[in-house]
Amino acid sequence: MTVADQTASLARANRILVTEGVLDAFGHVSVRVTDDPDRFLLARNMAPASVTADDVMEFDLDGRSEDERRPYLERFIHSEIYRARPDVMAVVHSHSPSVIPFGVCDVELRPVFHMAGFLADGVRRFEIRDEVGEGSDLLVRNGALGAALARTLADAPVALMRGHGSVAVAGSLELAVYRAIYTEKNAAIQCQAQAMGTVEYLTVGEGRAAAATNAGQVARAWDLWSRAAAEGP
Ligand code: MN
Repeated sequence: MTVADQTASLARANRILVTEGVLDAFGHVSVRVTDDPDRFLLARNMAPASVTADDVMEFDLDGRSEDERRPYLERFIHSEIYRARPDVMAVVHSHSPSVIPFGVCDVELRPVFHMAGFLADGVRRFEIRDEVGEGSDLLVRNGALGAALARTLADAPVALMRGHGSVAVAGSLELAVYRAIYTEKNAAIQCQAQAMGTVEYLTVGEGRAAAATNAGQVARAWDLWSRAAAEGP
Protein backbone atom coordinates (compact mmCIF):
# COMPACT_ATOMS: atom_id res chain seq x y z
CA MET A 1 0.00 0.00 0.00
CA THR A 2 1.40 3.41 -0.94
CA VAL A 3 1.76 6.22 1.58
CA ALA A 4 -0.93 8.11 -0.36
CA ASP A 5 -3.33 5.17 0.02
CA GLN A 6 -2.49 4.85 3.71
CA THR A 7 -3.02 8.58 4.18
CA ALA A 8 -6.47 8.39 2.56
CA SER A 9 -7.41 5.41 4.75
CA LEU A 10 -6.21 7.22 7.85
CA ALA A 11 -8.35 10.26 7.07
CA ARG A 12 -11.31 7.92 6.63
CA ALA A 13 -10.49 6.15 9.94
CA ASN A 14 -10.65 9.50 11.72
CA ARG A 15 -14.17 10.15 10.45
CA ILE A 16 -15.30 6.58 11.15
CA LEU A 17 -14.15 6.76 14.76
CA VAL A 18 -16.03 10.03 15.27
CA THR A 19 -19.21 8.68 13.65
CA GLU A 20 -19.04 5.53 15.79
CA GLY A 21 -18.63 7.46 19.04
CA VAL A 22 -15.00 6.64 19.85
CA LEU A 23 -13.37 10.00 19.11
CA ASP A 24 -14.90 13.43 19.63
CA ALA A 25 -12.99 16.71 19.58
CA PHE A 26 -10.08 14.75 21.06
CA GLY A 27 -8.26 11.47 20.59
CA HIS A 28 -6.34 10.29 17.53
CA VAL A 29 -5.55 7.38 15.25
CA SER A 30 -2.29 6.56 13.48
CA VAL A 31 -0.93 4.02 11.02
CA ARG A 32 2.63 2.74 10.54
CA VAL A 33 4.11 3.35 7.08
CA THR A 34 4.12 -0.05 5.40
CA ASP A 35 7.32 0.51 3.41
CA ASP A 36 9.19 2.38 6.17
CA PRO A 37 8.32 0.79 9.51
CA ASP A 38 10.24 3.37 11.57
CA ARG A 39 7.75 6.03 10.49
CA PHE A 40 4.05 6.54 11.07
CA LEU A 41 1.22 8.80 9.89
CA LEU A 42 -0.89 10.92 12.24
CA ALA A 43 -3.05 13.99 11.67
CA ARG A 44 -1.92 17.44 12.75
CA ASN A 45 -3.35 18.85 15.97
CA MET A 46 -7.06 19.18 15.09
CA ALA A 47 -10.49 17.66 15.67
CA PRO A 48 -10.65 14.17 14.11
CA ALA A 49 -14.00 14.80 12.36
CA SER A 50 -12.37 17.39 10.12
CA VAL A 51 -9.24 15.43 9.15
CA THR A 52 -8.56 15.08 5.42
CA ALA A 53 -5.51 13.61 3.67
CA ASP A 54 -3.92 17.08 3.56
CA ASP A 55 -3.86 17.18 7.37
CA VAL A 56 -1.78 14.03 7.79
CA MET A 57 1.83 14.37 8.99
CA GLU A 58 4.64 11.79 9.02
CA PHE A 59 6.63 11.10 12.21
CA ASP A 60 9.65 9.06 13.26
CA LEU A 61 9.72 6.83 16.34
CA ASP A 62 10.92 9.73 18.51
CA GLY A 63 7.71 11.61 17.62
CA ARG A 64 9.60 14.09 15.41
CA SER A 65 8.47 15.38 12.03
CA GLU A 66 9.95 17.59 9.32
CA ASP A 67 6.43 18.93 8.90
CA GLU A 68 6.26 22.12 10.96
CA ARG A 69 2.54 22.13 11.60
CA ARG A 70 1.43 21.72 15.21
CA PRO A 71 1.37 18.03 16.26
CA TYR A 72 -0.74 16.30 18.90
CA LEU A 73 0.77 16.55 22.39
CA GLU A 74 0.28 12.81 22.89
CA ARG A 75 1.96 11.62 19.68
CA PHE A 76 4.37 9.67 21.95
CA ILE A 77 1.60 7.15 22.65
CA HIS A 78 1.94 6.15 19.01
CA SER A 79 5.70 6.44 18.55
CA GLU A 80 6.59 4.36 21.58
CA ILE A 81 4.03 1.63 20.91
CA TYR A 82 5.37 1.29 17.34
CA ARG A 83 8.89 1.08 18.77
CA ALA A 84 7.96 -1.59 21.32
CA ARG A 85 5.56 -3.62 19.17
CA PRO A 86 6.80 -4.51 15.66
CA ASP A 87 3.52 -6.37 15.08
CA VAL A 88 1.42 -3.23 15.59
CA MET A 89 0.49 -1.36 12.39
CA ALA A 90 -2.14 1.01 13.82
CA VAL A 91 -2.95 2.69 17.12
CA VAL A 92 -6.17 4.37 18.32
CA HIS A 93 -6.06 6.59 21.41
CA SER A 94 -9.45 7.73 22.67
CA HIS A 95 -11.38 8.95 25.68
CA SER A 96 -14.46 6.93 24.66
CA PRO A 97 -16.87 7.35 27.55
CA SER A 98 -18.04 3.82 28.38
CA VAL A 99 -14.45 2.63 28.82
CA ILE A 100 -13.55 5.26 31.42
CA PRO A 101 -15.25 3.50 34.38
CA PHE A 102 -13.10 0.41 33.85
CA GLY A 103 -9.96 2.51 34.22
CA VAL A 104 -11.05 3.99 37.54
CA CYS A 105 -13.01 1.15 39.20
CA ASP A 106 -11.86 -2.21 40.45
CA VAL A 107 -13.84 -4.02 37.74
CA GLU A 108 -12.12 -5.89 34.95
CA LEU A 109 -13.14 -5.19 31.35
CA ARG A 110 -14.04 -8.62 29.93
CA PRO A 111 -15.80 -9.80 26.76
CA VAL A 112 -19.57 -10.05 27.13
CA PHE A 113 -20.22 -10.84 23.45
CA HIS A 114 -18.42 -12.43 20.53
CA MET A 115 -17.64 -9.14 18.75
CA ALA A 116 -15.27 -8.30 21.60
CA GLY A 117 -13.62 -11.71 21.83
CA PHE A 118 -10.23 -10.01 21.40
CA LEU A 119 -10.56 -8.85 25.03
CA ALA A 120 -10.51 -12.42 26.33
CA ASP A 121 -6.83 -12.49 27.22
CA GLY A 122 -7.26 -9.39 29.35
CA VAL A 123 -6.55 -5.70 29.04
CA ARG A 124 -3.85 -3.70 30.84
CA ARG A 125 -4.23 -0.69 33.09
CA PHE A 126 -1.80 2.24 32.91
CA GLU A 127 -1.35 4.32 36.07
CA ILE A 128 0.44 7.54 35.17
CA ARG A 129 1.00 8.33 38.87
CA ASP A 130 3.52 5.49 38.95
CA GLU A 131 5.63 7.54 36.53
CA VAL A 132 5.09 11.21 37.45
CA GLY A 133 3.35 11.33 40.83
CA GLU A 134 0.06 12.99 41.65
CA GLY A 135 0.26 16.40 39.99
CA SER A 136 0.29 15.58 36.27
CA ASP A 137 -2.27 16.64 33.65
CA LEU A 138 -2.57 12.90 32.80
CA LEU A 139 -1.27 13.40 29.26
CA VAL A 140 1.37 11.16 27.69
CA ARG A 141 3.39 14.17 26.63
CA ASN A 142 6.90 12.74 26.19
CA GLY A 143 8.75 9.66 25.04
CA ALA A 144 9.40 8.36 28.57
CA LEU A 145 5.67 8.32 29.35
CA GLY A 146 4.93 6.75 25.99
CA ALA A 147 7.49 4.04 26.69
CA ALA A 148 5.94 3.40 30.10
CA LEU A 149 2.50 3.06 28.50
CA ALA A 150 3.93 0.69 25.88
CA ARG A 151 5.50 -1.43 28.66
CA THR A 152 2.13 -1.61 30.42
CA LEU A 153 0.35 -2.54 27.18
CA ALA A 154 2.94 -5.29 26.61
CA ASP A 155 1.44 -7.78 24.13
CA ALA A 156 -2.22 -6.89 24.81
CA PRO A 157 -4.63 -5.36 22.25
CA VAL A 158 -5.99 -2.74 24.68
CA ALA A 159 -4.66 -0.71 27.61
CA LEU A 160 -6.83 1.42 29.88
CA MET A 161 -5.39 4.75 31.01
CA ARG A 162 -6.70 5.57 34.49
CA GLY A 163 -8.74 8.78 34.58
CA HIS A 164 -8.00 9.48 30.92
CA GLY A 165 -8.97 6.96 28.23
CA SER A 166 -7.58 3.96 26.46
CA VAL A 167 -5.48 2.72 23.59
CA ALA A 168 -6.33 -0.03 21.09
CA VAL A 169 -3.76 -1.55 18.72
CA ALA A 170 -3.74 -4.10 15.89
CA GLY A 171 -1.83 -5.40 12.91
CA SER A 172 -3.94 -3.34 10.49
CA LEU A 173 -5.69 0.02 10.52
CA GLU A 174 -9.07 -1.60 9.91
CA LEU A 175 -8.64 -4.00 12.84
CA ALA A 176 -7.43 -1.29 15.22
CA VAL A 177 -10.53 0.76 14.35
CA TYR A 178 -12.68 -2.34 14.87
CA ARG A 179 -11.10 -2.97 18.27
CA ALA A 180 -11.54 0.62 19.41
CA ILE A 181 -15.23 0.56 18.41
CA TYR A 182 -15.96 -2.80 20.02
CA THR A 183 -14.01 -1.98 23.17
CA GLU A 184 -16.39 0.95 23.62
CA LYS A 185 -19.47 -1.16 22.81
CA ASN A 186 -18.39 -4.00 25.12
CA ALA A 187 -17.76 -1.57 27.97
CA ALA A 188 -21.26 -0.08 27.60
CA ILE A 189 -22.91 -3.52 27.45
CA GLN A 190 -20.87 -4.86 30.36
CA CYS A 191 -22.01 -1.91 32.51
CA GLN A 192 -25.64 -2.68 31.62
CA ALA A 193 -25.23 -6.41 32.24
CA GLN A 194 -23.55 -5.92 35.62
CA ALA A 195 -26.44 -3.73 36.72
CA MET A 196 -28.81 -6.62 35.95
CA GLY A 197 -26.97 -9.37 37.77
CA THR A 198 -24.10 -11.82 37.65
CA VAL A 199 -22.50 -11.74 34.21
CA GLU A 200 -21.52 -14.80 32.19
CA TYR A 201 -18.45 -13.75 30.18
CA LEU A 202 -16.90 -15.46 27.18
CA THR A 203 -14.27 -17.99 28.14
CA VAL A 204 -10.72 -17.38 26.93
CA GLY A 205 -11.25 -20.15 24.38
CA GLU A 206 -14.48 -18.61 23.10
CA GLY A 207 -12.92 -15.17 22.94
CA ARG A 208 -9.89 -16.34 20.97
CA ALA A 209 -12.03 -18.35 18.54
CA ALA A 210 -14.45 -15.47 18.03
CA ALA A 211 -11.57 -13.04 17.51
CA ALA A 212 -10.02 -15.31 14.88
CA THR A 213 -13.34 -15.47 13.01
CA ASN A 214 -14.04 -11.75 13.27
CA ALA A 215 -10.58 -10.76 12.03
CA GLY A 216 -11.66 -12.16 8.65
CA GLN A 217 -14.87 -10.11 8.68
CA VAL A 218 -13.43 -6.66 9.34
CA ALA A 219 -13.67 -5.53 5.71
CA ARG A 220 -17.45 -5.78 5.87
CA ALA A 221 -17.57 -3.52 8.91
CA TRP A 222 -15.07 -1.08 7.38
CA ASP A 223 -17.26 -0.75 4.26
CA LEU A 224 -20.35 -0.03 6.32
CA TRP A 225 -18.58 2.42 8.64
CA SER A 226 -17.06 4.18 5.63
CA ARG A 227 -20.48 4.76 4.13
CA ALA A 228 -21.88 6.03 7.40
CA ALA A 229 -18.91 8.38 7.77
CA ALA A 230 -18.77 9.44 4.12
CA GLU A 231 -20.17 12.91 4.65
CA GLY A 232 -16.95 14.45 5.82
CA PRO A 233 -15.41 17.79 4.90
MN1 MN B 1 -5.67 11.67 25.56
